[in-house]
Amino acid sequence: MNTPAKPLDDEHTRTSLSKDALNRAFLDNLFYLRGRFLEVATDDDLYQAAAYTVRDRLLERWIRSSRLYKESSARTVCYLSAEFLLGPQLMNNMINLGITEVAREAGEMLGMDFERILETEEEPGLGNGGLGRLAACYMDSLATTQIPAIGYGIRYEFGIFDQVIIDGWQVEKGDTWLRNGNPWEILRPKLVFPVGFGGHSEQYTDEHGVVRQRWRPELVVNGVAYDTPIMGYGVDNVNLLRLWRSEAPESFNFGAFNVGDYYGAVHAKIEAETISKVLYPNDEPEAGKELRLKQQFFFVSCSLQDMIRLELANAGTLERFHHKYAIQLNDTHPSLAIAELMRLLMDEHRMQWDQAWAITRESCHFTNHTLLPEALETWPVELFERLLPRHLEIVYEINRRFLDEVRVHFLNDEARVARLSLIDEAGGRKVRMAHLAAVGSKAINGVAELHSELLKTTVMKDFNDLWPERFHNVTNGVTPRRFIVASNPELAALITETCATDQWVRDLHCLSQLEPHAEDHALQQRWRAIKTNAKRKLSNWLGERTGFAPDPETLFDVQAKRIHEYKRQHLNLLHIVWLYEQIKQNPNIDLTPRTFIFGGKAAPGYFMAKLIIKLINAIGEVINTDPQVNGYLRVLFMPDFNVKNGQRLYPAADLSEQISLAGKEASGTGNMKFSMNGALTMGTLDGANIEIRDEVGHENFFLFGMTAAEVQHRQITGYQPWEFYQHDEQLRAAIDLISSGLFSHGDTELFRPLTENLIHHDPFMVLADFDDYRERQREVDHAYKDPHHWDRMSILNTTRMGKFSSDRSINDYAERIWQVKPMPVTLQA
Ligand SMILES: *Cc1c(COP(=O)(O)O)cnc(C)c1O
Repeated sequence: MNTPAKPLDDEHTRTSLSKDALNRAFLDNLFYLRGRFLEVATDDDLYQAAAYTVRDRLLERWIRSSRLYKESSARTVCYLSAEFLLGPQLMNNMINLGITEVAREAGEMLGMDFERILETEEEPGLGNGGLGRLAACYMDSLATTQIPAIGYGIRYEFGIFDQVIIDGWQVEKGDTWLRNGNPWEILRPKLVFPVGFGGHSEQYTDEHGVVRQRWRPELVVNGVAYDTPIMGYGVDNVNLLRLWRSEAPESFNFGAFNVGDYYGAVHAKIEAETISKVLYPNDEPEAGKELRLKQQFFFVSCSLQDMIRLELANAGTLERFHHKYAIQLNDTHPSLAIAELMRLLMDEHRMQWDQAWAITRESCHFTNHTLLPEALETWPVELFERLLPRHLEIVYEINRRFLDEVRVHFLNDEARVARLSLIDEAGGRKVRMAHLAAVGSKAINGVAELHSELLKTTVMKDFNDLWPERFHNVTNGVTPRRFIVASNPELAALITETCATDQWVRDLHCLSQLEPHAEDHALQQRWRAIKTNAKRKLSNWLGERTGFAPDPETLFDVQAKRIHEYKRQHLNLLHIVWLYEQIKQNPNIDLTPRTFIFGGKAAPGYFMAKLIIKLINAIGEVINTDPQVNGYLRVLFMPDFNVKNGQRLYPAADLSEQISLAGKEASGTGNMKFSMNGALTMGTLDGANIEIRDEVGHENFFLFGMTAAEVQHRQITGYQPWEFYQHDEQLRAAIDLISSGLFSHGDTELFRPLTENLIHHDPFMVLADFDDYRERQREVDHAYKDPHHWDRMSILNTTRMGKFSSDRSINDYAERIWQVKPMPVTLQA
């Protein structure tokens, strides 16, 4: 039992990191797994063989890690997230194993095109945007900081849709990422858990004469585990990402099923498999879809049953469950964990309420991601009861006890009781998922300082009055392995050379060693050359995809993120249209030539966001074909913004647009990725922008717009966008130009919903910030004309990003919230 996994032969074919061993293993995999010789292999064959070669090298470390974690009974972090937006795996696993160079050489020995093989990988798009990407960064950092962890989620058969642009409009295409097989995952056919739905809850008397409650579900589906190893950087720790796929239980199989109801059996099987079929593509407003609630319960239940299985196998009892696990709920999507853990402990493992509740409350922690009221998740009681009747009983009982506590705390304050209740009684009863998560968690955290403060004064104010000690801030971070080393290898090499160490890759604060060189003209020149090179690469790629390759000598001004009114892509557009008009009026104007690049997906049902995409492309069409302006301006839309394409953008940006209405963007992580790669930020005082600006220095950041407090004030006193439209001539001219049909072949109706909405409603106060935005953009224009000054600012942006490594975020969680310690794994011994 306890002997370590033995390499297959003396030369460690499947584990050695030497060039020869890699080559032998690669050819071996190509032949035995793909049935190909090098001469006839397709790009996909080569990629798959390379992926298996790397994966083999993770497995030994993985087995080591799980054995050590098990034997030590170390507290394990269980990160529950409905989304993990991993991005391509091959390069990052090679980086973390430290074999990029040997692998490149090995590939060249065989005459292969390394870059092309990397390009072949299709990313698992199991997330919408920031929230899912955060979960992926945290998995990388948990492994790197050597904290035992399991990521639990859903193995969607179809991830986020692929975006194509047709006639300027977004068209969604199904994401078939599993089409060629996924070499990184290992199916665990024996790791299966039943998950019930519907039916009823009933009382019964057990064999000891104790009256108990149990759930008799109407339908049971199975969740089967797929494991992906997550390798830490420069360490031998490998953690586990365990994703669940739904399938029909054995009894649905045709052989065993009543032949008389063949189609019934087929239908039941399909219905079971539907649960993990597709990711919901909207990251903000909750659609209230039944299947979505099923998905949430499905993965939460499988994950908790898995934790319980492991703990019972190890400790034989669940009394110390909370010592063994720190469960982190990534937003409210997994909040059902509170009710399901209670049910499992009480109904299935016969614990009393008080003990089960103490264990639940000590195990769970909750991260809030949004203050947008429309995004706060609620479920109609009727639907909840139909799918999860036993859980509704538990929610009611949690609520009864909780509200009693509230009444003791705040005497005669029934208004507060109603506000705090887990059930929203106004206009159709609903279960408030954030309240369920908050009541059942030991800690509640926001994702940037401002956001955590606003949480305490707005959506969670009543909870903060009750339990101030439960509130924390953990500012988001991103992994420098992916967003510097993998995305921008030239910059990484320059940093390592200048610092004479690559320590910064694991401790990003070390970037500050570069700071004394910020004034150094020789370094500045190399810095700029690397940026220009990245811009050239992006330009070539865009040329192939969109038919237009922008000039790498122009300023690359990039806004890449989900398309949403609160992120205000249309503010950026108004500025572009205004610039267009300036050039038209004064063809000899002194302007820094700019290429505006947009990227991002719109939720398929979000009309306004899709219209914004159309407007970006419509403006681009006019500007890019007008020789009078296109020497100054270009506007491009990068199709299909995802992790892989993002990695092309971040290194190539000179300016990063982070222009949300203050108070609306919880943190943002795109802002960090750009800044790490030396882009300057044009931003509002929102989310992590505030902390980025404080770190990089106020003089190295382009700040504009209202503060969150000013926004609140304006909201209270009554915001009148019409007044801005009337009084600001420049603004009016830009809006009128869009309304005029100039960008829509004379059609004055097409963009009317957008312009009318801005003039009369403007919920995200685009017009109020326009003038200041324009002013600050003029400063960008001037600043870019002085390369030494600009390069210095760019270098300082990178060197001062230490705080925004996700390693720091994970350390914050580990110390303040989870109370977990690193557990280094060693291969020797
Ligand atoms: C980082 C990232 C995001 C988040 O961007 P924000 O600017 O923080 O909204 C979204 N999508 C992808 C693919 C990302 O990599």
